[in-house]
Amino acid sequence: MPTKFPISKSRLEEIIREYPTPFHIYDEAAIRSNLRRLFKAFSWAPDFREHFAVKATPNPYILEIMREEGAGADCSSLAELCLAEMAGIKGEKIMLTSNDTPADEFQKARELGAIINLDDISHIDYLEKNASFPDCLSFRYNPGAGVAGNDIIGKPEEAKYGLMHGQLLQAYKIAREKGVKRFGLHCMVISNELHAESFINTARLMFNTAVEIYEKLGIRLEFVNLGGGIGIPYHPEEKPVDLEFVGEGIKKVYDEIIVPAGLDGLAIAMESGRAVTGPYGYLVATVLHEKKTYKDYIGLDACMANLMRPAMYGAYHHITVVGKENDTCDHVYDVTGSLCENNDKFAIDRWLPEISIGDRLVIYDAGAHGHAMGFNYNGKLRSAELLLKEDGSVKMIRRAETLDDYFATLDFKKV
Ligand SMILES: *Cc1c(COP(=O)(O)O)cnc(C)c1O
Repeated sequence: MPTKFPISKSRLEEIIREYPTPFHIYDEAAIRSNLRRLFKAFSWAPDFREHFAVKATPNPYILEIMREEGAGADCSSLAELCLAEMAGIKGEKIMLTSNDTPADEFQKARELGAIINLDDISHIDYLEKNASFPDCLSFRYNPGAGVAGNDIIGKPEEAKYGLMHGQLLQAYKIAREKGVKRFGLHCMVISNELHAESFINTARLMFNTAVEIYEKLGIRLEFVNLGGGIGIPYHPEEKPVDLEFVGEGIKKVYDEIIVPAGLDGLAIAMESGRAVTGPYGYLVATVLHEKKTYKDYIGLDACMANLMRPAMYGAYHHITVVGKENDTCDHVYDVTGSLCENNDKFAIDRWLPEISIGDRLVIYDAGAHGHAMGFNYNGKLRSAELLLKEDGSVKMIRRAETLDDYFATLDFKKV
């Protein structure tokens, strides 16, 4: 079940008078309390770390909240490293988990003192040549066939990420010979996963691998990073992941595998994005048109440039009509944007209450991989981002793009 929209109809109209739709609005109080819940679920673990996946919500105001709550940043591009720096996230609170990595990312990560997570064995030499080794180096493990991935990431053996098992052991050996002293291990094979067991299984695989690395190479890892991928209930019939159950389950496996191997103290890291901000961000839009042809279309002032998950993944995003939350859903609509692509639809054949021009629609679970995936195709401009603060006030944390922004990279002078 998506998280209830925290703003009343009259308050929303006040906000819209100041900030016209469409916009994304994030609920600070909910983000903070949810993050505290994640930390609490792993409070048993020595030195639990959450590196928030910046790509989910790449806004420095959001990253500041992460820092204040004790989280770090998981970055996978130069811009994301800069955003973490802007938000005051420092040193090993930052982890660079990148792939096909260009030299400037390694250099920036070194400048920031970040943990570097390598995606391939060949990157050891590339890193050495183009930057230098960090104090703490990690490798991304791709366990291959036999480990179930899921829809978004696919089969591990077909995923471009990570080192194979044999390469992994070799990589630690080479890096140690080159003088690296501190190591971590990373793996992410699932995305938007709602089954708690999947996370416990990933942890088991990682703990076994940590023990193997210790037994075969004598290397004591400092941390295992279980990746992101905790799903959220986009659909009203889905249930959120029980974080406490996951925490407990992973503790059991830790006690079973890590403690008897003498590796107690091994830290657990995660790089959740979606589960941290996803349910607490909403896209608010206004109905511009209703069109009745072969189907009944509701046309919004927002489009897939503001939220592309429905068009890209066929993803369900819950929608409500402000002020009509308790009305009967007795009309069937396609809810569309204005982009010249027929897949620019927020919902297809969706049962909703009768909609009028000017109604405000709330599109749920847009807090992660929402605004972040915005693009300019068809000359569409990205919308503003607002933060609903804990005291109920609203702060604009990114203004809407203007035509000047869109044309800023052109240098066209008519002679
Ligand atoms: C995208 C990504 C994440 C975050 O995934 P969520 O589904 O938002 O939790 C974490 N780590 C890596 C390496 C990623 O690519």
